[in-house]
Amino acid sequence: MVAVRVRAGFLAITGLLLLTGCESPVGDAAAPGVSTSAPSPVASSSSPPPAPATPPPTSSSAPVRVPGSKVVVLDAGHNGGNGSHAAEINKLVPAGRGEMKPCNTTGTSTNAGYPEHAFTFDVTQRVGAALAAKGVKVVYTRTDDKGVGPCVDKRAATGNSANADAVVSIHADGSTASGSRGFHVAYSSPPLNAQQGEPSTRLSKTLRDGLRSAGFPSANYIGKDGLAPRADLAGLNLSTRPAALVECGNMRNATEAASMTSADGRQKYADAIAAAIEAYLG
Ligand code: ZN
Repeated sequence: MVAVRVRAGFLAITGLLLLTGCESPVGDAAAPGVSTSAPSPVASSSSPPPAPATPPPTSSSAPVRVPGSKVVVLDAGHNGGNGSHAAEINKLVPAGRGEMKPCNTTGTSTNAGYPEHAFTFDVTQRVGAALAAKGVKVVYTRTDDKGVGPCVDKRAATGNSANADAVVSIHADGSTASGSRGFHVAYSSPPLNAQQGEPSTRLSKTLRDGLRSAGFPSANYIGKDGLAPRADLAGLNLSTRPAALVECGNMRNATEAASMTSADGRQKYADAIAAAIEAYLG
């Protein structure tokens, strides 16, 4: 896989970028929610400019990676239609470790009623836009906030079939315990495969560090040091790719609810998460 990417990079630099999309190991033509993350320099022009004799210098603002050479699957927790489709989302599906769990859940909300599914969808779209601008190919597990599901096992399958370099699920918590606040990042533990080991813990720590350096406090009511090893989260259990689940904060905490309810606040979460994913991808 690395060899393929290196070759794709060489081809792109020599002006044959058209080939890079086809060389992706993703095989995701039928996967839901595939976005065109990187603008294709050839698709938008009827007369493509001639290939430069030498690669252009990279400026500090330009993406340094070959567009599409990294794939990130973004999984916005829950969905807007779940609440009105109880039978569908309560259907049991494989959850890993021999367990079964409901297909999906409705999620939580702020005390004022701003729902988690709306928050996660908006933040995920913002994260995806930031990554796409850096040349990352972004695949979403859902592309609107009105549907039902998809089930947790299908969400995991999207990451696996996309051969994602990173899979990041985005949620917000709903702890009613007094004073609960802060984010935490969950990962599968004990790991069920190699990708759930070092790569997933490193992805989780990178997300933790990114949220912290953006000023978000780590949770004071769950996990330790902003991290929560979990054996009960289906999406993480079923992942064969580096995967982490970010609980951005506690929607029942007034301060965090105010931040999550504002577009500026959601952008800050998204900026921190996108920068951390970028840092993880290297
Ligand atoms: Zn959630």
